[in-house]
Amino acid sequence: MPAEPVPADPGREDDLAWLDRDPMTAAEREEWLDRICDQDDPPEEEEYEDSAPLTVEELAEVRQAAADDLLAVEAATTGRRGPGQPGSARLFPGESSSPAAGFGPGMPLDVLPGGPGLAVAADAAAGEEDGFAGVSDGELIGLVCAWDRVEAHAAARKLAAIAELGRRNPGAQDAEFAADQLACALGESRGRAETLLGLAGYLETRLPGTRAALVDGTISRYKAELIVGATQLLDPAEARAAEQEILDRAARLTPGGLRAAIARAVMKVAPEKARERRERAAKDARVERWIEDSGNASLMGCELPPDEVLAADQRITAWAQELKKAGLEGGMDQLRARAYLDLLLGKDSRPRRETTAGGGGDSAGSDGPGPAGAAPPDGPAGPVPAGFAGRVTLTAPLATLARLADRPGELSGLGPVDPWLARDLAAAAAANPKTTWCVTVTDEYGHAIGHGCARPGPKNHRKRAGPGPPRGNGFSFTPASRDGPSGGYGIWTLRTPGNGPDLTVALDPLTTDPCDHRHQARGHDPGVKLRHLSQVRHATCTSPICRRPASQADFEHNTPYEAGGRTCLCNAGPKCRHDHRLKQHPRWHVEQRADGTFRWTTPAGRSYDTEPTRYPI
Ligand SMILES: [Zn+2]
Ligand SMILES: [Zn+2]
Ligand SMILES: [Zn+2]
Repeated sequence: MPAEPVPADPGREDDLAWLDRDPMTAAEREEWLDRICDQDDPPEEEEYEDSAPLTVEELAEVRQAAADDLLAVEAATTGRRGPGQPGSARLFPGESSSPAAGFGPGMPLDVLPGGPGLAVAADAAAGEEDGFAGVSDGELIGLVCAWDRVEAHAAARKLAAIAELGRRNPGAQDAEFAADQLACALGESRGRAETLLGLAGYLETRLPGTRAALVDGTISRYKAELIVGATQLLDPAEARAAEQEILDRAARLTPGGLRAAIARAVMKVAPEKARERRERAAKDARVERWIEDSGNASLMGCELPPDEVLAADQRITAWAQELKKAGLEGGMDQLRARAYLDLLLGKDSRPRRETTAGGGGDSAGSDGPGPAGAAPPDGPAGPVPAGFAGRVTLTAPLATLARLADRPGELSGLGPVDPWLARDLAAAAAANPKTTWCVTVTDEYGHAIGHGCARPGPKNHRKRAGPGPPRGNGFSFTPASRDGPSGGYGIWTLRTPGNGPDLTVALDPLTTDPCDHRHQARGHDPGVKLRHLSQVRHATCTSPICRRPASQADFEHNTPYEAGGRTCLCNAGPKCRHDHRLKQHPRWHVEQRADGTFRWTTPAGRSYDTEPTRYPI
């Protein structure tokens, strides 16, 4: 509530007059209803020709048109392929007299942008009582995608009208009360109405590309909202630059994938702002507890320093493994939960061992040694190693390899991080002797084209005795020999922050286009290195919609080893257990292409591509 008395609402009378006015007389309303009912009559044929079943001749024409159709070409070349998205298919020849023929894979209605015409055609294709008689699986999926685009289009049109409402109420108070008008009309909360007004205005003024993609139905409203939310902190030019980074693949990314991609784009175009946001949010650090619906309770720390969270998480896992070793039963989740509380409460939940001294009890969960007590060296309150152990992957575009020091890259296992945090995390990891270092070289798309795992360098270089140049917080990455590695590959020296040894990195090319099978293993088992390299190329499961880390996935031969498939980068990629089983289903087909792309074709005859992981460049 304002502290001062509310003025007598200038302009309120105008509002009231507008609200009270019935826009129609009774006669006008009759006439309007008649007009509306007229529209229920069957449409004239030429108006809705798309909805009529196609003849064989027409089908042939349509197929020809689809083959040439710019839309189809655009769909195939601009990343519009993806789940629920137009152009997700290759063209399948074949006759179909189904009412949904135009929605078959690659057909014109399958790639037509969302709009009223598409809605009418899709409605007609459902047939009598939504029976979908004669509609093939591929066409049915095409109909689902068409409605998805229509839904997005409708959302865009609704937001356009809301944006106009915002423009008509530019004054501060009018704008505030415009949200109330909208909330009343939609039966929404005031907060949601304000969000809609903000979203509508933001899309029109700041994110023209996102808005266009929503109008076409290339992205859903939810994805548009994700992009709007992530770019709020940017100025208009930066927001446009950030959306340009992701719009080519926003359609096929899952919401989680899109969230990570746009966060990375924001950090790229405005790293300082991303850092400021992180630092501001750190002031909201807190621990929360609440009761779950089940009656159990939850405990969560929020907005904590990432390096300490990683270290804490590793500590929980380490203690859970101790509990398991000592014979405590339960899966890893349960054991980690037990370890979490042990560490907070200074308890020791290891089942008590039978010992001669002290006549040990037989129950788990005894009061263990507290922080001040006689903790065994490996007890929950034992000494804490510095930093956290990680596999740190530094990424660098091939062209700017030598400038690696300025580009710390990102830590695997954590989402996108701004450069300062990446540097801090890498420095924290360097403090832990168990940390291992990798260097991934990327092409201009961020795809991994080379990789090397760091090893301690030759002995005489391991300790730099005497006063040298200050090492600071940075990395250096330099060719190991004076001549320099050929073509960017070969042997490099990596110097990490702190007092660790210099490391030697042998960079190997990852290309399989064509494959010289340099990484091929003889038997069925890939061995550590090949498995690792396949996980570098695809950091997640190779399903188009799966984000499970490759480290938790199987190394899967695309052509089975038993059927003559090589155990090589050119014939393998990570698949999680679910997608491994899915791929073995006889009606699914997965093709591995030379460039590392996996093309999944579903039983409905639609294909979706998974490109190799895009690293920050
Ligand atoms: Zn490596
Ligand atoms: Zn090969
Ligand atoms: Zn998967």
